[in-house]
Amino acid sequence: MLAQAVATGRPLIPVFVLDAQAEVLGAAAKWRLGLALAHFSQVLARLGQRLILRRGDPLAILQDLVAETGAAGVMWQRMYDPQAVARDTAVKAALKAKGLVAESFPGALLIEPWEVATGQGGFYKVYSPFWRAVSARGFAAPVPSVTSMCTPDVWPASDNLADWQLGAAMRRGAAVCLPHQRVGEAKALARLDEFIEESVERYRAARDFPGQIGATSGLSENLAWGEIGPRTIWAAGQRALHEGAAGAEHFCKELVWREFAYHLMHHSPQILTQSWRDGWEGFAWRGDNPDAEAWRRGMTGEPFVDAAMREMYVTGRMHNRARMVVASYLTKHLLTDWRVGQAWFAECLTDWDEAANAMGWQWVAGSGPDAAPYFRVFNPAGQAEKFDSDAAYRRRWLAEISPKPGPDALSYFAAVPERWQLRPRAAYPAPIVTLAEGRARALAAYAARDGA
Ligand code: FAD
Repeated sequence: MLAQAVATGRPLIPVFVLDAQAEVLGAAAKWRLGLALAHFSQVLARLGQRLILRRGDPLAILQDLVAETGAAGVMWQRMYDPQAVARDTAVKAALKAKGLVAESFPGALLIEPWEVATGQGGFYKVYSPFWRAVSARGFAAPVPSVTSMCTPDVWPASDNLADWQLGAAMRRGAAVCLPHQRVGEAKALARLDEFIEESVERYRAARDFPGQIGATSGLSENLAWGEIGPRTIWAAGQRALHEGAAGAEHFCKELVWREFAYHLMHHSPQILTQSWRDGWEGFAWRGDNPDAEAWRRGMTGEPFVDAAMREMYVTGRMHNRARMVVASYLTKHLLTDWRVGQAWFAECLTDWDEAANAMGWQWVAGSGPDAAPYFRVFNPAGQAEKFDSDAAYRRRWLAEISPKPGPDALSYFAAVPERWQLRPRAAYPAPIVTLAEGRARALAAYAARDGA
């Protein structure tokens, strides 16, 4: 989008509007948005530009800015969630009605969700044929980064980012979570290079082992904040593939899971809030409950689950294998509604992505498209044995089970609220449910639904 705006040859005024939708982001996402904005402002300043910050109703703000500056139009990068689509459609219509240019551009995805359809003209509900269809088409090449732009003679006023207090609900942010973030385009590109150089070769074999640091790209954090585009990642993956890197195709396939999530959200936006498969809304999941609270606090007594929950609280991220295991444990062993888990991920993740999060939760719960079959109950102990056989991941995050806890395990206790009353040297809790009981209860509930 920026490249197209630069190509107009007119002065540009980069604007970020904090609207009602951004106001309700989870604590970690809102804090991470603040880091992204601060960094982007600095990058623009080095180009002699400014980032104009305004808070409130986007249409009113844009109309004010047009009146103040005499701008001929507004251009923005498209978003795909239903609220953003409704907002942007209304903004576009209102600006156009005033004779202004109002244009939205792709960039956040490899392919627009409506550009691919099944042979019958519907949307894909299963990943493999989606992958075959989109990978056969290929994708547009990435656009080079912008290095110069025309500036206006007079800048409109901007809010002060600090006044927005985007980190207010994230008290652990600067002290604990910050060292785990890589903010900005330059760091995202370096992360991609590093991954392609050092890890893509072993990606397929190593990506499932959460103790293997650097085995996956970590790029979800930067994708979530628009600090790198998927086309740049795809192009790097394809180059590695043509150079014979063993894990490159698998990496590209994972990137396309993200596209699938957006395809699903576009065609069935109810995936964000309702069980996607027919007949699942009445399933016997429990609402929020004390076991779910133990899950949120990383205190279930199930080491692999607790390690993962603490990883997320400290870093804002969680390994993909661990996401599947904790989601299965919550929805199956604890028989708790997937939306309880979805909401906690939204609160804690700095790579939070509405589409990928909803698809991931519903996939694990069994209520989503192309979902894991209901009888697939991940056994956290078995998963730990298989994917963390040397216990490196569990020891990294659980101070209670380690004679000499490392800095990550200890940082969890520095991060949690005092009212949780967690102490690193306390005894590790007994399991809140035995794996056999939890599994039996889940299978009984799922079988009852199936017979319904
Ligand atoms: P890599 O393995 O390096 O993969 C490269 C890219 O491919 C990722 O950055 C991501 O954009 C995409 N990708 C990989 N796996 C998936 C997947 N299963 N679904 C969609 N895209 C994928 N991902 C998010 O970005 N945000 C979320 O909020 C989110 N919530 C999830 C919740 C649950 C319950 C589950 C099971 C998965 C969730 N995922 C989410 C997907 C996945 O766990 C992360 O994308 C992945 O762990 C990111 O790490 P990475 O960047 O190192 O991935």
